[in-house]
Parts: sequence; C-alpha cells; structure tokens
Amino acid sequence: MSSVSPIQIPSRLPLLLTHEGVLLPGSTMRTSVDSARNLQLVRSRLLKGTSLQSTILGVIPNTPDPASDAQDLPPLHRIGTAALAVQVVGSNWPKPHYTLLITGLCRFQIIQVVKEKPYPVAEVEQLDRLEEFPNTCKTREELGELSEQFYKYAVQLVEMLDMSVPAVAKLRRLLDSLPREALPDILTSIIRTSNKEKLQILDAVSLEERFKMTIPLLVRQIEGLKLLQKTRKHKQDDDKRVIAIRPMRRITHVSGALADEDEDEDNDDIVMLEKKIRTSSMPEQAHKVCVKEIKRLKKMPQSMPEYALTRNYLELMVELPWNKSTTDRLDIRAARVLLDNDHYAMEKLKKRVLEYLAVRQLKNNLKGPILCFVGPPGVGKTSVGRSVAKTLGREFHRIALGGVCDQSDIRGHRRTYVGSMPGRIINGLKTVGVNNPVFLLDEVDKLGKSLQGDPAAALLEVLDPEQNHNFTDHYLNVAFDLSQVLFIATANTTATIPPALLDRMEIIQVPGYTQEEKIEIAHRHLIPKQLEQHGLTPQQIQIPQVTTLDIITRYTREAGVRSLDRKLGAICRAVAVKVAEGQHREARLDRPDAAEGEGCKEHILEDGKSSPVSDTTDLALPPEMPILIDFHALKDILGPPMYEMEVSERLSQPGVAIGLAWTPLGGEIMFVEASRMDGEGQLTLTGQLGNVMKESAHLAISWLRSNAKKYHLTNASGSFDLLENTDIHLHFPAGAVTKDGPSAGVTIATCLASLFSGRLVRSDVAMTGEITLRGLVLPVGGIKDKALAAHRAGLKRVIIPQRNEKDLEEIPANVRQDLSFITASCLDEVLNAAFDGGFTVKARPGLLNSKL
Ligand code: ADP
Repeated sequence: MSSVSPIQIPSRLPLLLTHEGVLLPGSTMRTSVDSARNLQLVRSRLLKGTSLQSTILGVIPNTPDPASDAQDLPPLHRIGTAALAVQVVGSNWPKPHYTLLITGLCRFQIIQVVKEKPYPVAEVEQLDRLEEFPNTCKTREELGELSEQFYKYAVQLVEMLDMSVPAVAKLRRLLDSLPREALPDILTSIIRTSNKEKLQILDAVSLEERFKMTIPLLVRQIEGLKLLQKTRKHKQDDDKRVIAIRPMRRITHVSGALADEDEDEDNDDIVMLEKKIRTSSMPEQAHKVCVKEIKRLKKMPQSMPEYALTRNYLELMVELPWNKSTTDRLDIRAARVLLDNDHYAMEKLKKRVLEYLAVRQLKNNLKGPILCFVGPPGVGKTSVGRSVAKTLGREFHRIALGGVCDQSDIRGHRRTYVGSMPGRIINGLKTVGVNNPVFLLDEVDKLGKSLQGDPAAALLEVLDPEQNHNFTDHYLNVAFDLSQVLFIATANTTATIPPALLDRMEIIQVPGYTQEEKIEIAHRHLIPKQLEQHGLTPQQIQIPQVTTLDIITRYTREAGVRSLDRKLGAICRAVAVKVAEGQHREARLDRPDAAEGEGCKEHILEDGKSSPVSDTTDLALPPEMPILIDFHALKDILGPPMYEMEVSERLSQPGVAIGLAWTPLGGEIMFVEASRMDGEGQLTLTGQLGNVMKESAHLAISWLRSNAKKYHLTNASGSFDLLENTDIHLHFPAGAVTKDGPSAGVTIATCLASLFSGRLVRSDVAMTGEITLRGLVLPVGGIKDKALAAHRAGLKRVIIPQRNEKDLEEIPANVRQDLSFITASCLDEVLNAAFDGGFTVKARPGLLNSKL
C-alpha cells in the first residue's frame, strides 16, 4: 500500500465561496468564478502570485458569494476543503469570468475571518491528513470491520463495471494502492451523490463517521447498477459506463498527476442542460430547437469551435424568462404619491404618465403608443422611467442607444458569425430575468446609421405592438414575445428621430427648469441624496438657498440639473474631507485647548469672512459643525465663478442684439453682432450658420433696405442705399457651435437696425421670431425653453411672435412675473419694443436734421 505524504496547509487561507458543487479531498472539480470577491481572489492571488502557496485556496461549499462586494459576506459553511488551483481559464463572454480547476487537499475548519475585502481571508485549522497515512495498520485495527466492509463494497461496485474500459481498470488498481482512509472522499465524489450528501461527507470529520456514511451510498449505487443490469441486459456494457461511474480520471491523487477531465465535466453539464431544457417552460417551437441543438451538441467533439457556440446558445435559451413575469401592483393613487415624492415640478409629464398608467390599469394591456420623453439632458427623463417601473413593481432596465449604428445591436448577430451574440433586447431580458420589465430606450434620437443596416428599423419591430409578440432575434432564431415589456423612450430632440419611429411614439416634452424649480429640486432631492452618498448629515453641512442659487447662476448654465448635482457632489466631497480630518484630529488630539481659538478656520466658516490664519492653527482645529457653505466656501471649492452676467456689457455699442435659440440642450441666449465697413455691398456671415440662418440674414437686410427711408436708416456716407459702398459683417458668437433655424430673423433685423441707426438696443431685451420679406413675424417653437433661458440670463423683456401668445401659458408663473412678454406680428412692433422710446422716426430729430 503506497503512502501519502502528510499535507501542511498555511494557517491563513483565502476563501473561495462556491455553491454549485462540493469539492472533497482527493478529487478534482471545475468551478466557474464570476462574483466580485471570487474574481478578486483569482486576480490578485492566483494570477499575480508566483509561489506554490499562493495557489492554495480554502474552498467553502454551499455559500453563494454575493454578486457585489458591497454586500456583506454571507454566513460561511464551517468546514471547507483546502485546494490547489491547478488551472485558471479566463473568458469574457457572456460576462467576465474564470474557470478554475481545483484539486482538494484536506479538510479545514474556519477559526476566524480576518479580512472580508477585497476577498475573504480566514485563519484556519487543518482537520485531516496531518500525518502520513501508513500507520494504517493501527487505523485499520481501530476502524476494524468498518473499513474492510467499505473496501469490499467498493471492490464490488467497481467489478460490476466493464473492466475493458481503461478508466475502470485504473480505478480498480487504485482501490488497492490508495490508503483506505482516502477512499470515502474519493468514492463519494465519483459515485452518483447529491450535493447535500457530499456536504455531509465533508462535514464528517471523524474517519469512522465518514466510513459509516459512505457505505449506504455505495450500497445504493450497487443496487442501482444491479437493477439496471437486469432491465437492460442487452446493452449492459454501455449502461455500466454511463450510469455507474463518473470519470475515473477524477480520482486524481493529490500527489499524483492531474488528469484532464474536461470531457466528463462537460458531459455532466450537458446532462444538466438537457434537464433544464426539459423542465423549462419555453414555447413549443423554442423547445424543439433546443432539443435539436442538444442532440447535435452531444455528437460534437468539444474541440470544435461550434461546440462552445451551441452550448452558449442553449444556456441562453434556458435562462431566458419565457414565461417568468412579475405581477403588476398598480395603484394609481400610490403611483401619484411616488411620482410626486421622487420628482419635483414636471407636472405635465407626471400627469401624462399617470394617465398612461390609469389606462393600463383599466384596459390591462399595453397596446398603444410608446411614451417618449423629449427634453434637455438632466431634466429627469430616465429618473421618471425608473419611477414608473417602481410604481408598477416591475424590473427596470436601461438600454443606451446613443451611437448604436448596427442593427445587430438590436436584433443580434446570426449564429454563423464568430463571436455572435444576442441583441440588446434579448440580453436585457436575460439580465432582468422576467418577461415584463420596463425597458428605457435611452437617447433614441442618437441612433446612427451605417452599412450594417439601420437600427431604427429594427427598433420599429420591437416597438410595434402588432409585431412584437413574436420578435425574432437573429441569434435566438426563434420568436420571443415582447408584448409584455413596457417600453419608454427618451430623446433630446425629435428632429433626429427617424419619422417612422416617431410615428410609433407619443412625444411628451420635458422642458428645462426655472431657477426656483432648480433650487427646490436641489434642496428636496439632490442635496439629501448627495449627503447620503458621502456619508454626511445635515448636522455637518448646511447649504443655504442663496448658495444654491449662486451655483445655479454662476457655476452652471444648463436646462436640467445634472451639473448642479455634480457641483453639489464636489461640495460634499470637500466637506467630507474636512469632517473626516476633524474627526481624526479630535480623536488624536482630544485636548481641552484644542477648542480654543474658535473661528480661526479657513474659508468654510460660518460667516465666510474671517481672515485666513496661519496653517498650523488652522490644522489644529476640528471644523465647526455644521459647515456652512457660503459664497467664499463655494469659490474655494469650485473655483472662481464660470459664468458672469455679461449681457449689459456686450450691448454697449450699436449693432448688437440678443436672440433666443432653442437647442437640444435647452434654451439659450444668443448674441448677434453686426459691423459695417467700406466695401462693395457684400454680406459676410460667420459663426457656423446653417442655410436657413443665412437666408434670414438676407431677408432682414432686404427688408431694412426697402424700409430705409421710412426709418431713416443710412449707410456711413448718409445714403439710404444701405449697401452702397458698404460691406456688412454679421457674426454669431460661440462660433464653434453650428446654428440653424429661422427664429433668429427678428434678432438679425433688430441688430442691423441698430447698426444703421446708430442706436443701442435695450440691454434687457431678448427676442425670437421668423421674418418674412414683407416684415411679418411668424411663430417659432421652444418658447418655454427660450423664456427660461432669458430668465436665467437676467433679462427683463422678451419679444415673441404674436401667434406664440398661447405658449405663454406653459411658462411658470414666477418666470412670467419676472419677464414682460411683448407680442409682435410685424417687424415694426419688434423694433419699437427693442429700442428705448420706440423706433419711430420722430424720436430721432438729430438724424432727421442730418438728412436735410
Ligand atoms: P435625463 O434622463 O433627463 O438626462 P436624469 O433622469 O438622469 O436625466 O436626471 C439627472 C438627475 O437629476 C437624477 O439624479 C434625477 O434624480 C435628478 N432630477 C432631475 N429632475 C428632477 C426632479 N424634477 N426632481 C427630482 N430630481 C430630479
């Protein structure tokens, strides 16, 4: 009988948490690693370590590792198996994971977990194989009959198998050459046993107990074999191979060579897969395909590239939630409360969402238009989508479509491609694990188009309720019913959404926020959220409303609240440092005199005015609580203000006017500058203008030329022919941004009128409107966003086309109060409102004189 050298494992072992199989000493197992802690363990221990010791792990069975390492460690199974990692294979698909080949060495018991992150490490006590086995004589005596009985059963079992199979012959030889004490573990891992039984064997630390527990398992296996031999005598040999024994090669002795056992493990997996297919609730058609594929898979050699492809395919098929769904719990009243609690303002959007949900509740199906929230970034579109999922009690999944330009992204690649995979819809369903989630199709306006087909067209099929009950992903190649999925789309602008797609959707505009709304949102939602994220409490930091207003006006210029949120985050980070430093110092110093000299802290002080004191005193003090963020603190943390009101400065010369523009990012004020010089009547336009804008400029000039006499507009030499010996240059600053659209017409006309009349445009007025050659003012879009932009910029008067008067209702009351809106139906009215004292001829006697 050969001897087995004793094993000495380190006193501290990194722990690998497994829950799929149980590794027993003396056997080898393949295990997949994809959770955060286990991945860390593989990366930092196995892949980086160079010594033999770094390849020894403590495998803890029956303990699922939480997916994220932020979660606490679950209760660990008390006894584990120290194992040698023999092989590590990494893969990135379908998600990053490693496959480990591990060989069990001996049992151990956890004494104490010494570290939980990045992977758990425990102090352990080795439970067996401490000494050499050859003192078997003594053991054999002690265990006496038990060990003999066990050996007999083991031999009986092996002899029932086909000895012509080399693996069986080897097993037979091993039974004699291995020490008896090693046999219970090894045989348990090769005969058919459940995980629970294996776990019991692992927990049986005393040898006697282990023998006692394993004998019934052997007997069961022998009985099973006998029965089988009886019933299928004619195919005896095959049965023996299939049923009785797991691979002989699995009995890899610790000190012996490790045999490759890929094939057998995979066979096991295939049996599992087959079982899953059988028990899965997939529809008939999909089931047929799976059965066909698994038959093919069984015949395929594993080395064939298609093997992995087919296996992955089948794994996806069984994982997909064909029939699994969550039950909707829709209570409109609760939904209203939840939406109100999560989101301030945005009344129109909330109202429409509630209507949508109410109709859903009454009708109980999802047919109808897909909701599409359109608005600038950071106005809460995604966040409302998430709330909808929450109110319905559904899973939420966001599919980012920005930049997607290949239809396979939506519909998957055909399985003939190398690296083919399902599209984002099917992947999303796999991720959420139910067939009725809320899918947020983010940024549908940024779908691209390329040679690989049009993803928008693929989306059409997904969104069309008439078609999507049998959506066919190219990879799956069988229909999946998407009719239970609730789709919500978001976009910044409807202009770039393909018309066919737009047609399927109901657009809900989500305009930007006013300053007041932003302040409310910041104090009700953003600040509490940021405090929580940074581990701060209102007792530690206080941000008054004036500070928030400062951040909004001087550090951000946006329609939504995303930069505001970021800036608040920056403030919280800075304060967190102060608080942590303070706590540290308090703990360290804890001196009574440390409290002296209050108020000599740096800028983040109660009144912000205290003069800076020497660094040493400064450092010796914990910050006073709460740290109040005033303008000085703001400047210190965020730097000097980024945006200052520059409006009045820029309007100090004739030939400048302020227009209002709409962009996908919200409304903006836009300066228009004009100058004239000697020349030949040329018009130069700069500032990356589109064709429509250029046309507006020509229209404005033509109108002014034809009305030059009426308004007494002259060129530099006093002639009514404005372009005579004169060149005009019009510029739209922020030249890097492309601008187009007709709504700058009135601004260009006003700016040129100012240039030719030599009068200043009022510095507090902004305007928008399309013009015609005859000087009429036509309506334009985006009035609310434009008004908000004017309000943000501190302007007082806004000139809009008369036919846009109805849009004023949408503007929040406080903005309407602060701004005076002047409606104009023709350019005369615009000019009268844009210049102090109007733009009539009588008002300008000086100029009149010069004409005489
Ligand atoms: P979008 O999808 O429109 O670009 P998000 O939904 O990502 O914007 O919103 C950005 C952040 O602003 C989120 O943290 C969100 O909670 C917050 N937010 C936006 N609007 C509101 C609101 N009205 N009330 C509360 N929080 C809001």
